[in-house]
Amino acid sequence: MNIEEIISELKAYDQQVNIMEVCGTHTASIFRHGIRSLISDKIRLISGPGCPVCITPAEYIDRAIEWSKKPDCLLLTFGDMMKVAGTKQSLSEAKGEGAKVEIMYSPLDVLKRAKERPGMTFIIAAVGFETTVPSYALVLQQIIAGGLNNVKLLTALRRVIPALEFVCASDTGINGFIAPGHVSSILGSKAYAELAGNYGRPFAVAGFEGEYILAAIYDLVKQKEKNKAEVHNLYSSSVREEGNIKALHLIDQYFEQGTAAWRGLGDIPDSGLYLRPEYREYDAGSFDIRDKQVDASSPCRCAEVIIGRINPDECPLFKTVCTPTKAKGPCMVSAEGSCGIWYRFSK
Ligand code: SF4
Repeated sequence: MNIEEIISELKAYDQQVNIMEVCGTHTASIFRHGIRSLISDKIRLISGPGCPVCITPAEYIDRAIEWSKKPDCLLLTFGDMMKVAGTKQSLSEAKGEGAKVEIMYSPLDVLKRAKERPGMTFIIAAVGFETTVPSYALVLQQIIAGGLNNVKLLTALRRVIPALEFVCASDTGINGFIAPGHVSSILGSKAYAELAGNYGRPFAVAGFEGEYILAAIYDLVKQKEKNKAEVHNLYSSSVREEGNIKALHLIDQYFEQGTAAWRGLGDIPDSGLYLRPEYREYDAGSFDIRDKQVDASSPCRCAEVIIGRINPDECPLFKTVCTPTKAKGPCMVSAEGSCGIWYRFSK
């Protein structure tokens, strides 16, 4: 079947179906390629929980700020985190008051700096899903090999599968998932098999070009029609069934699973990755971070956006009060956040 035939069938589709694209790169690609205009209105595409910055709890930001204000301590973070609100302020605001916060371009940046300034303690804000966890494992490997004792990791590392299980168990009405391409290259397509079986939802692993996404939507629609809940890997050029064994071993060598808090959602069992006990001396207090309310009166609906209960444009603040320059929630702040992506592409 060629792409014109797929588009023609999807345009004429007359059954209601809700499909979640889990990662922000797919969300952006859906807008960039005008996918919604090519398919039936009955096929609802819903953005998922694949933005690590959006789900990092406010209390994590508070701890990062605490470190950055200690004498002889410097916090290194990716730029996306700077404007995310803690319970009182963001890293950007803390930096404005003199806190020592610097943007890193790679976690490996820390190695040279820590060697040059042995009197300074460097805290790496280690945030991300399984895609980025191997890079933190590699940094730790090199910290240990180099005998550096002035680097610590403040981790908010998260696993995608428990988050998808949370979505499946919620009343979001998702019928199928476009699995995240980058995470899938680490985890492998087989990672979704249990969820598909347990919750009766199909998964299609897809690349990021328009044709891949359309093929994934078509696959999921057809699976729903046939009452199937299988995992189909449509991105075999980058995703193997067993994943990236080397990266998975690296993650397993340094990290173990544990309950973790997701902003707006609370604790999700086994959804976090923490340094193993033998490496805890390199941890900067990543345990017991809870999902503290930033502002109970805030009408920001990020938590509902994250699990796909609403689309960003259903939040009353979207584009009116909440914009990337005056963001009211992390989903608008981050480059991978659903609200930010919807804003950029729907002007
Ligand atoms: Fe929160 Fe803004 Fe998104 Fe609404 S549009 S959910 S206020 S980030």
